Amino acid sequence: MKIIMLGAPGAGKGTQAEKIAEKYGLPHISTGDIFRKNIKEGTELGREAKGYMDKGALVPDELTVRMLLDRVSKNDCKEGYILDGFPRTIPQAEALDAELTKLGEKIDYAVDVEVPDENIVKRMSGRRACPKCQATYHLEFIPPKQEGVCDECGTGLVIRDDDKPETVQKRLSVYHEQTQPLIDFYGKKNVLHTVDGTQDVEDVFKAIKDILK
Ligand code: ADP
Ligand code: AMP
Repeated sequence: MKIIMLGAPGAGKGTQAEKIAEKYGLPHISTGDIFRKNIKEGTELGREAKGYMDKGALVPDELTVRMLLDRVSKNDCKEGYILDGFPRTIPQAEALDAELTKLGEKIDYAVDVEVPDENIVKRMSGRRACPKCQATYHLEFIPPKQEGVCDECGTGLVIRDDDKPETVQKRLSVYHEQTQPLIDFYGKKNVLHTVDGTQDVEDVFKAIKDILK
């Protein structure tokens, strides 16, 4: 089963992708997490991506597509995967499509997690992330058991560099310009499903499970 999570930055794609991954035993592939890991490790890819990410811009398609296609060619992706944060542009979606067609495969579900911009700003300003295991929390909505500490691995939580208010606005406008057209793209392929992302995490997950049945 191959699933794409669509939605604005901060809509809850990562939160839901993690739950789907656990329930269905599929790898959760977040291009944002891969870039952040590369930045932490000081790789060439990380250095290149950081400049774009800190400005709230997208990393160029060529770099992102190459990285993603390499990741989905790994053995753990044989039974499928959940893509979170990819594709983010029409050319990225077309590149993925072309590769899947070559392999005689296709995307089974594109799940659009819908959250209005007003809620997004609050979601991203309260987001706290674990720099080690990538678990995500929210100060108000999904707080960790111990303030500032990851439930999963005990690491101190951080504010993502790109969750500053100025960058959030930029990322939202990039989303509307470059990523939202994908809703139509997958609609035309008859794989699009929409869920109300303003609900509680468990209710959003229930709606997604109903779709994936
Ligand atoms: P995305 O991967 O789409 O950028 P995240 O999954 O990181 O979004 O979620 C953004 C923020 O909103 C995080 O702080 C997360 O804990 C919180 N969050 C996610 N889903 C919900 C929800 N259904 N209700 C309230 N807060 C949520
Ligand atoms: P995310 O963790 O999905 O919110 O992504 C954080 C940042 O990483 C984005 O704002 C982009 O700068 C970059 N990024 C992640 N995925 C992509 C992608 N598919 N295409 C281009 N840039 C991306």
